[in-house]
Amino acid sequence: MSAADTPPVRLCHLYPDHLNIYADRGNIAVFDRRLGWRGLALEVAEVGLGDPIPADCDLYYLGGGQDRDQMLVAEDLAHKADPLRQAAADGAVVLGVCGGYQLLGHRYVAADGGIMAGIGLLDLETTAGRSRLIGDVVLEVTLQGRTATVVGYENHAGRTHLGGGCTPVGRLRRGHGNNGADGCEGAVAGRTVGTYLHGPLLPKNPWLADTLLGWALDHAGSPAELAPLDDDLEHAAHAVAQTRAGQRR
Ligand code: GLN
Repeated sequence: MSAADTPPVRLCHLYPDHLNIYADRGNIAVFDRRLGWRGLALEVAEVGLGDPIPADCDLYYLGGGQDRDQMLVAEDLAHKADPLRQAAADGAVVLGVCGGYQLLGHRYVAADGGIMAGIGLLDLETTAGRSRLIGDVVLEVTLQGRTATVVGYENHAGRTHLGGGCTPVGRLRRGHGNNGADGCEGAVAGRTVGTYLHGPLLPKNPWLADTLLGWALDHAGSPAELAPLDDDLEHAAHAVAQTRAGQRR
């Protein structure tokens, strides 16, 4: 199939008005541009509180949010859990960042003791600690047999502990990660990925963006070898983030 004949990748952006701190919306711009540069298109459905969730998207995205926004979202997400779990079981990609990541787990216990049910797509649980875990992060990530460095920024009170049903996204070279104790960051199960990395995550990590896009294209029925792009600027930004994290001179 030529690029011109390839149908658009369909992305469902969940709660863009409530879960969008640290410019997490920028991740969607990256998906859009990286497809566009290859002659492919992204179609975005923005889905908010009370809206029905489309069942046929290739990618579902949940950004980060403050506890009070997360509480509103958690109640609404419970009504969307079944179609989202079904889409993930059918091979759609689900990406959750920070607050969105926490809600992909079983539950999040906030700093005020409020309990938010998650949708259990990732086998993990989060409890807010007394301090916030803040700063630059450098990870070593292995996906599909390839290992690469991923950089980002974290700012969360939640301490996340993984059960046996998922594995960490990466091992920490710098930063606090899931809980500040076990050296791990994020969680992955199938094509569901959760991470604390903001900043946003994808502009400085083009390899990760393309890995997720490859999965989404495969789900869309248009598996494609993604042509390499001129990523000099992205790699320079990645290098600056590593330097800032003290991982590079
Ligand atoms: N409210 C959550 C926490 O502090 C998530 C914060 C975020 O998304 N940055 O752990």
